[in-house]
Amino acid sequence: MFRNRRVSAAVLCAMAIVALMGYFVSGIGADAPYYAVSAGESGGGYALRKQPATVVIDAGHGGVDGGASAPSGRLESAYNLEIALRTELFLRFLGMPTVMTRTDDTSLHDPDALTLRAKKQTDLRNRAALANSVPNAVMLSIHQNKFTDSRYYGAQVFSNKRPESVALAKHIQDSLRLRIDPENRREPKTLDVILLSETDIPGALVECGFLSNAAEEAKLRDAEYQTKLAAVLSITMTEWVIMTENETKQ
Ligand SMILES: [Zn+2]
Repeated sequence: MFRNRRVSAAVLCAMAIVALMGYFVSGIGADAPYYAVSAGESGGGYALRKQPATVVIDAGHGGVDGGASAPSGRLESAYNLEIALRTELFLRFLGMPTVMTRTDDTSLHDPDALTLRAKKQTDLRNRAALANSVPNAVMLSIHQNKFTDSRYYGAQVFSNKRPESVALAKHIQDSLRLRIDPENRREPKTLDVILLSETDIPGALVECGFLSNAAEEAKLRDAEYQTKLAAVLSITMTEWVIMTENETKQ
């Protein structure tokens, strides 16, 4: 799955952060704010755990729809899947339930969709329906950007107009700025696309970077950078779940 097994200081650092977050989230600590729930008045000796939100991880495109392509011809769907699988590993390590829309190079289109357009549309509808079918879920869709002018670079986050999705997109954009690229001045935006408009759970679509920018494409294909992105995305989603759970408790 991961061709490059180089273990660097940065990856170890990311792993350490995630390990600390895992300790925090799993409720082992004395002041665990999250899903370490007492057994209640009747006792019984069992520590009940509240089910945390499930993160639906959507690796954009796949199969008949490769998405954008890098100058090398490498398809966006491959970058998306590699980053999504790494994000899933981190989230599971953090104790967060996950559902993947795909785990290999496939499309989720309807079998009776004949044209490429129909395949793409039904693929997106089916991803949205899958995300909507997961109880207490939040969606993270992973994509890569492309533009005719190769100067442009930097991650950008999109969402539908629902306030909770707008807030999630802002949280992810801020986190990517803080933890990946402090120079990134991009702002989150709302976007009217099938995947986002047909999901009725909080969700955001992250364009991790531009395949049309040579320097950024090289990073996005690098295992170490993918791991860093995945670590940040998983921590960010976990933070958001904790924040929103705490808000609803108040
Ligand atoms: Zn895409």
